[in-house]
Amino acid sequence: MSTKTVADNQSQALQTKLNAAIESRASLEEDFKTQSSMLIEFINKLSQVSKGINIKLDNRLAQLRSLLTKSAPISDIELKIAEISKLLQKHTITNAKNIVQLHTQFNDAGQNLQKINGLPNDLRRKLRGLLVETQSTKDSLTQYIPLLSQLLEFYNIVLHSKTDTQQNNLLATKQQPTQDNVAITSKSPTVNYVLIEKISSCLSKMHLSTQHTKELLVINKRLLKDTTNDDVLERFIEIFDVIVADLKNERDSAKNFLNTLNETLTTVQNAVKKTLSTCKTTQTTNNKINKKLQEQLLEMTGTVKEAMSLDQVKIDINSKLNTIALTLEKKTEFEQQSQQALSNQLNEMVQKVEKLEEQSQKFEKKLAEQQRKSMQDALTKLSNRAAFDEYFTQSMVRFHHKPFNLALAVIDIDDFKKINDTYGHTAGDKTLQVIANTIQKKVSKDAFVARYGGEEFVLIYSSKEEPELLKELNLINKNIARLPFKFKNNKVSITLSIGATHITQEDNIHTAFERADEAMYKAKAQGKNQVVYA
Ligand code: GH3
Ligand code: MG
Ligand code: MG
Repeated sequence: MSTKTVADNQSQALQTKLNAAIESRASLEEDFKTQSSMLIEFINKLSQVSKGINIKLDNRLAQLRSLLTKSAPISDIELKIAEISKLLQKHTITNAKNIVQLHTQFNDAGQNLQKINGLPNDLRRKLRGLLVETQSTKDSLTQYIPLLSQLLEFYNIVLHSKTDTQQNNLLATKQQPTQDNVAITSKSPTVNYVLIEKISSCLSKMHLSTQHTKELLVINKRLLKDTTNDDVLERFIEIFDVIVADLKNERDSAKNFLNTLNETLTTVQNAVKKTLSTCKTTQTTNNKINKKLQEQLLEMTGTVKEAMSLDQVKIDINSKLNTIALTLEKKTEFEQQSQQALSNQLNEMVQKVEKLEEQSQKFEKKLAEQQRKSMQDALTKLSNRAAFDEYFTQSMVRFHHKPFNLALAVIDIDDFKKINDTYGHTAGDKTLQVIANTIQKKVSKDAFVARYGGEEFVLIYSSKEEPELLKELNLINKNIARLPFKFKNNKVSITLSIGATHITQEDNIHTAFERADEAMYKAKAQGKNQVVYA
């Protein structure tokens, strides 16, 4: 064999090896491609499944997808995978915690439902089955989904049967509830305390008669202690009853007054009629008597003319005078009688009118009292929003007629919700009363003070320039902050944010109020417990 041939053979063998190497690399590349596209697809699906569980995880998976698509260096991909594993590990722990929590919540909800009396028998059986099935903790959250939907369905059934029962109860007004629905309704779910507070605050603003206001106060106290919806519902019905009774009273008293008025008018009318006719009869009788007297006098003249002798005249005249005296006596008696009758009738009329006057005064007083109450805030006894609107409108009219130092201040108690939330609504109410009293005591005599609503007050000044006004408002602020409030043995200080402004020629009620209100909000934004002038 020549050297050339050996070399040729070697080169050929090398060529074959190279081809095989190229082929296997191509096949390796092909494999890598298939595997990486499978991996990308898998990551895609994983991203979709885990989407929304954790934003960080979503982001890292997206980054991993992009690294794989770009065929990034393995070290980068490894780093990303390490990050994702860490997140997944964390998620596994959270997941386990969530499962335990869901398990407890699920069982609690089921057991609570079991406690409701009057559940239909087959529902009770199914519920027991469901709870037995969920005695042991499940492996994943998803396993709870069908169980939860089953439990929800049970709640739905109970809710419906309860609503139906309540509707039936409402239809059968005043009818005693049956044993069954008493049992179902007595364990109703939690009460809406926000609604109760709203109702309670409305009640304190109602102006009923003293007796009915007392009754409302008692119901209100019970309402605030009620723990079931059914008790609350009962309290609402009681409230309606009291309000309806008060309305009826009010209507009856108005009706009573109108009846008396009508009666008196009829009596007066009759008395006048009678007096007129009595007068007429008296007149006729008097005329008759007068005529008789005239005739008697004429007769007497005739007697004198025709008399034959003085003695005869004397006798005749004497007898005629006797008759005249008798007639006169009768006339006097008759006049006295009719005088008495008239005076009696007059007395009767006077008495009736006096009674009417007395009633009308009572009624007027009541109306004035109602008018006063409608302008007064029931809780703080300050003027209310309606009174403020009226006073401010009148002041504005005066101002536009002839300008003067008209100023408005809006006061809002700082963090008042906390007082209610921490110490209760009653403590909140008392606080409002004390603050209202203090403001009223500390303002100058010419200032008008009103409760605008909630924990907001308004002041109107008619003769203060800016420095004087600010001095007074700062003093009020200090005085309130110094009040030694004590709730449940905790010393608490309460502060105000105040916004104030003077009214200008360009202002109307709204722009002026808004400016003061904005100043008050600025006081809040700047840290509360201060006065801001705009
Ligand atoms: P800020 O300092 O921002 O004014 O906070 P705040 O908590 O005072 O204000 P917010 O408007 O959040 O809450 C006002 C609270 O006043 C809410 C409401 O329960 C309470 N409130 C309003 N009217 C009455 C009332 O007549 N009696 C009681 N007790 N609370 C009331
Ligand atoms: Mg407020
Ligand atoms: Mg407030």
